[in-house]
Amino acid sequence: MGFTRPDEKAIHDAVGDLSQLPVQLQRAFTPDREIFAPIPTPSAGDWLAIHKEQDQTFEKFKASRSNRPDATRHVIYLQPLGEFAAEHSPSIEKLREFAAAFFAMDVKLLPPAPTDGAKFPTRRNPLTGNTQILTGDVLNFLKSALPPDAFCVLAITMEDLYPEASWNFVFGQASLSDRVGVYSFARYDPAFYGQSRAPGYETLLLRRSCKVLAHETSHMFGLTHCTFFNCLMNGSNHLAESDRRPLHLCPVCLRKLQWSIEFDVLARYTALEQINRGAGFNDEADWLKVRIQKLRQE
Ligand SMILES: [Zn+2]
Ligand SMILES: [Zn+2]
Repeated sequence: MGFTRPDEKAIHDAVGDLSQLPVQLQRAFTPDREIFAPIPTPSAGDWLAIHKEQDQTFEKFKASRSNRPDATRHVIYLQPLGEFAAEHSPSIEKLREFAAAFFAMDVKLLPPAPTDGAKFPTRRNPLTGNTQILTGDVLNFLKSALPPDAFCVLAITMEDLYPEASWNFVFGQASLSDRVGVYSFARYDPAFYGQSRAPGYETLLLRRSCKVLAHETSHMFGLTHCTFFNCLMNGSNHLAESDRRPLHLCPVCLRKLQWSIEFDVLARYTALEQINRGAGFNDEADWLKVRIQKLRQE
């Protein structure tokens, strides 16, 4: 299944007409090749080697009429599910802060829900023997208690998940129309694979968790997988591919999210730089610093 990298014209068509926008948004959405890396050519086993993605240009995104935050539904809720043991889990508060900066929206934590009991019956994975929760049970639970001001509710968990009996596992699952999703960080911990937790692994686990949260939550706004640049919204088939994705959006995806949420791009980048620096994501913070300078230029 051949994937062809988009050429200059395809990229400009994807971003769309910027001429009517304020100058700062024009700068933010200009596909600057010095700052935004091209989408990697897929190798065997990579997402684009296996999946045929439909290109979603900015205009196609607008035409999809996906959910947008409004006066009624404007809060992203995170629902911790089960234990987040401090020594081998990402900090929930750091995830909340990251999401709040990334989406420039209110992000609130719901009281943690226990995974034991009748609500979430578990199974033992037939191959690995580890405990797993059925995603459908979690989505039904979230749907039954959707807060009236929720743009979406996302359960996050360190438990491993499966979507149906015949599957080995799944990283997560969502229903856009029901505004609910569930994501597991269990498989982002090297210890899950029997590997040692090397020094600095807390930063690695937090980075992976922030990345999956931002990627999956962006899907809730109707963004599909990006086929234009090396981008947070690239599809990913395995951990190495997921690690290769940046923590930021390309200009096409940024324009989609900004159109949906209507945030101030400079204020968002400034908040994100601070959060990334604080979290120890120094490469990303440096990248944001360059972007901020660029947007401020006269
Ligand atoms: Zn995705
Ligand atoms: Zn993108």
